[in-house]
Amino acid sequence: MGHSATKQRQQNHSQRILQAFTCLLTMVDALASITDQEEKALRLGAENAAPLALAAAGQTFAEIAKQMLDCAYVGVFALDPPDERQRLLGVSGLNFEERQKLFEDTNQTPLAQYVDTETIAHLHANKAVLLDLQKKPFVTTRSTHGARYRLVAPMVHHGALIGIFTMAKTDAIYPDVESAYTPEEISLAQGIAKLATQVIERVDLLRERAEARANEQRLHETARRYDDFLSTASHELRTPLTTIKGHLQLAQRRAAILEKRAEQLPQALAEDVHRIVQSLEHAVRSFPRLERMISELLDFSRIQASKFVMIKYPCDLVEIVSRAVEEARHTAGERQISFSLPAGKSVPIIADADRIGEVIDNYLSNAHKYSPLDHPIEVNLTVEGRLACVSVRDHGPGISPEDQMRIWERFYRAPDTATQDQCSADSNLGLGLYLCKEIIELHHGQYGVDSVKGEGSTFWFTLEIAEQ
Ligand code: ADP
Repeated sequence: MGHSATKQRQQNHSQRILQAFTCLLTMVDALASITDQEEKALRLGAENAAPLALAAAGQTFAEIAKQMLDCAYVGVFALDPPDERQRLLGVSGLNFEERQKLFEDTNQTPLAQYVDTETIAHLHANKAVLLDLQKKPFVTTRSTHGARYRLVAPMVHHGALIGIFTMAKTDAIYPDVESAYTPEEISLAQGIAKLATQVIERVDLLRERAEARANEQRLHETARRYDDFLSTASHELRTPLTTIKGHLQLAQRRAAILEKRAEQLPQALAEDVHRIVQSLEHAVRSFPRLERMISELLDFSRIQASKFVMIKYPCDLVEIVSRAVEEARHTAGERQISFSLPAGKSVPIIADADRIGEVIDNYLSNAHKYSPLDHPIEVNLTVEGRLACVSVRDHGPGISPEDQMRIWERFYRAPDTATQDQCSADSNLGLGLYLCKEIIELHHGQYGVDSVKGEGSTFWFTLEIAEQ
């Protein structure tokens, strides 16, 4: 072979490589613009946007690939789980009927029904395969769409075969499939298949992102409506509740006067009056619980609207705790509630005294609610350095380590804690500790619970002591 012939061959070779590179670059460019368009469509939230986007991207991709490869036919298929069912994403080089036929032949057909196991094994090993559609095992298969020499390149993503890229040259001028494709063409086809993988992946990713965005919006919207509802409901309930309470108390007073005159009344009427007095007492007794629920809901909606504010001023923590303990003793009947505090001192803090009082009330009422009546509750106020610590200890059911984290979340109620009285269990919203947490955080304090399941719980919080 002459010197110039070798040179010519080398030139052809490097020209082909250059061409291949240019091809791939053009594809990458086209790919970028495809996905830009799809992203726009997805962002507009069109229904079926994702499948449409994928189909559009696949089709554009097939057309560009055919131009670049200068061949008779290009097909891009996704392979869907569980059995690698073919889904035509794009085809170029066929007329309408041929395309229709190809769709019918391949759609939802497992790849294994189309090619032999050896071919499939090759594709799984990320190798391109050359097929002569008129030789075994294809002799019996359907139309060859005018081109029998096929090059099939795998689309592998994260080790899984997710699609195939196929191309065909017109058979007339080649004696067999091996001579129909040069090594450069084969590696170019493989490169293109890899790019096609990106199309599928990009569109899938975009779809996932669009779905996540839509979900997030829906969640956000639901949460907002829910908060609005709570806020309106608790506001609207408060006024009639106050009126009802007023009327109830008035009725109670009148009934009490009547009851005092019971001996002047006929027996049956006196008994009726007694029953009415009892029902009224029952109704009035359940009022604080109702009021507490409404005020918890109101506070909750204030937090949601960022309108939960503390009015802080210098006050004495000893006084606040003492008052809370007094009140608890008043409502806790025969329950023993002890209180120990640092000897003879006041504990000055700068705080919203009412709100801090509510935190202690809440700890106390939970301790009362969840532990047996004959077990004492111990309240402690201690001072250590610049920190004051208030704790409420009970000998109730205790709280599992997992729930110790979760009980501070809004509306969370530990699944297995029974209250001592069923009636009160029904009116628990699971907001008490959430509000405690918010209040203490707004005072820059710490809060927490120490508990052993079966032995009881100690709820505590700390606040910084103010300069004297
Ligand atoms: P609520 O008492 O209204 O359900 P909280 O926010 O006050 O709501 O308490 C949340 C949950 O924490 C309760 O449902 C209960 O399961 C658990 N819990 C609170 N205090 C105690 C306690 N002292 N002992 C055992 N479990 C408690």
